[in-house]
Amino acid sequence: MPEGPEIRRAADSVEKALIGRTILDLSFAFEHLEGYENTLKGTKVERVDTKGKAMLIRLDNGFTIYSHNQLYGKWYIRNAYNYPKTNRQLRLAIHNEKKSALLYSASDIEVLRNEEVEDHPFIRKTGPDLLSETVTARDLYHRFQNQRFRKRKWTTLLLDQSFIAGIGNYLRSEILFVSGISPFSRPADCTDQQLQKAAEACMELVWRSYHHKGITTDLELAGRLKEQGKKRSEYRHWVFNREGSPCRIDGTEILKFRAASRRCYYCPTCQKDPDGR
Ligand SMILES: [Zn+2]
Repeated sequence: MPEGPEIRRAADSVEKALIGRTILDLSFAFEHLEGYENTLKGTKVERVDTKGKAMLIRLDNGFTIYSHNQLYGKWYIRNAYNYPKTNRQLRLAIHNEKKSALLYSASDIEVLRNEEVEDHPFIRKTGPDLLSETVTARDLYHRFQNQRFRKRKWTTLLLDQSFIAGIGNYLRSEILFVSGISPFSRPADCTDQQLQKAAEACMELVWRSYHHKGITTDLELAGRLKEQGKKRSEYRHWVFNREGSPCRIDGTEILKFRAASRRCYYCPTCQKDPDGR
């Protein structure tokens, strides 16, 4: 399932195809949105924001197109009116003189006035998006100590989109490893230094993954392993998907367990548990 960095990259490609150019034609597959087609034709796209897994296409007439891909939605960017061969259902098509941005399969699409965006139920309950909003490691450090979050397990928190938007399953394991935090602990169990490290790790890994197509390991290490002929799956992560392999820091066998119904990986030496697990 795509996580924040993958959604942000999709948003970048939509933005690149549409920004600053007049929308010459636009169509929705949903009857209740058809009335907006004329309202939105002739406008220009100012930018494309993300909020976790939602995308917000901001138009220059005060409207925003909200879309959430759920599990199946997929954007295609094509030369104008050059539709891809696919069995998917086209849900939203935006055309300018050069490009078409086509959203297939997604069923969660809405047109909102700008002032309605922050009250949208999904947007309202979603935490900060590290790739689209001005958020600092300091902000996250304070967030970890908030009463709403500090006594919940890290493994639950890091998948909770109201905590931080866009972090998903691989980022969860990777952030905890880089911070040296046991997956069995809560922010309340952590030292101040661990909390600071976790805040920095959230920022760093989300941005690294975004810039480097999903890589979360140290880039130098990844480069070295690549030169040695290793496959991407062998150098992409610190611990995720590496059950039974040696920790890249100290050689301890990486363990896997299930947390919040999803697989989670960790090094029992680098991520010492306060209860000795
Ligand atoms: Zn280790």
